[in-house]
Amino acid sequence: LLRVEKVNKAFGTNHVLRDVSLDVHAGQVQCVIGPSGSGKSTLLRCVNRLEVPDSGHVYLDGQPMGYRWKGDTLREMTSSQLAVQRRQMGMVFQGFHLFPHRRVIENVIEGPVVVGGVGRATARERAMELLSKVGLADKAEAYPDSLSGGQQQRVAIARSLAMRPKLMLFDEPTSALDPELVGDVLAVMRDLADEGMTMVVVTHEMGFARDVADHVVFMDGGCVVEAGPPGHIFGAPEHERTRSFLARVL
Ligand code: ATP
Ligand code: MG
Repeated sequence: LLRVEKVNKAFGTNHVLRDVSLDVHAGQVQCVIGPSGSGKSTLLRCVNRLEVPDSGHVYLDGQPMGYRWKGDTLREMTSSQLAVQRRQMGMVFQGFHLFPHRRVIENVIEGPVVVGGVGRATARERAMELLSKVGLADKAEAYPDSLSGGQQQRVAIARSLAMRPKLMLFDEPTSALDPELVGDVLAVMRDLADEGMTMVVVTHEMGFARDVADHVVFMDGGCVVEAGPPGHIFGAPEHERTRSFLARVL
């Protein structure tokens, strides 16, 4: 479903991603772990093209991100074409970025109604289903400010799902939360995984990676150092850098 092929990205002289490749199959959960500054967020941003890779390509469903075929040549997309393509991926960040002056339900239906062309009644019905799924049906009429961080993050997940993405990208969705709120958000993500959602999750939650991921990718210094099933990465890592990272975080 998602293929990242030898992506390189530098900011000035800081070479942040070095020949990073990933293959994410439909229904898979891949967790990306690694030290601060190793390029994890930049990788996700290259995947949905918030950053443009210096070289390499990202394919979603076989289509190159940011390019379209015109006859037999690849042309760069316009920004509105890119926006349509990007909507196939949901993205959830550390911060929740909800509209503070709109009720929870309005936050969730905004995307489908304004850019998806879905009728308000249909969008509302679907939004209520999604809010139930994340355990917040009773908060539909509340304003984001009145919710805890964990509840706001679950609304943010519902809002992403409302666009019916093929794939969800998560960048440390729980790292801004108080420890007692982390579990609820991880539980929602675990349910999504069980339902077969394809997910790429950058996380410091090693328990989540170990239990939920099909595939764990360890990055250091902009490179994928080691990748494999969680049993392998956590149980028998081959590289010294992986071992020393895990020794620090576990
Ligand atoms: P963390 O675990 O702290 O979130 P990370 O693995 O997500 O770290 P990135 O945020 O991808 O790391 O950053 C990798 C490197 O790229 C860092 O050295 C960072 O300073 C640099 N960097 C990231 N974004 C930019 C930018 N927009 N402009 C310049 N440098 C950047
Ligand atoms: Mg990051």
